[in-house]
Amino acid sequence: MKCPFCGCADTQVVDSRVSDDGASIRRRRRCATCEKRFTTFETADVRMPQVVKSGGHRAEFDEQKVRTSFLRALHKRPVSTPLVDEAIDRICQRLLQLGEREVQSRQIGEMVMNELARLDKVAYVRFASVYKSFQDIAEFSDAIKEIQKRD
Ligand SMILES: [Zn+2]
Repeated sequence: MKCPFCGCADTQVVDSRVSDDGASIRRRRRCATCEKRFTTFETADVRMPQVVKSGGHRAEFDEQKVRTSFLRALHKRPVSTPLVDEAIDRICQRLLQLGEREVQSRQIGEMVMNELARLDKVAYVRFASVYKSFQDIAEFSDAIKEIQKRD
């Protein structure tokens, strides 16, 4: 990395230390040209990606919205809250693992559908019907056939 004092590209790490909480690494660097020293911090970049909506605008990822989708689809269905929490955790984990700055809202919708397919077939069809805005009964029966194939 460049020296902030003289702009020379040749700097060397002379010391690395992990912070007490283990969340960052502090490095002391020395410029080979002007010999000045400076410190850098390295932390993990684990922000949730921005969500790109179908209209193209961006929004912060909102776990509450995902939860609302689940609860709506699972209304009066026999699925326990811990199972829903686990499903939402898996989605958040997967989004972090993508390591992308942006994801399409469609991708999140697919993740919700996959989780619902595992949790409850009725909820899956409910969610799919709204999410894919089914226009007629044939699309419902296609979705039902689709979910039955998963067994
Ligand atoms: Zn320098």
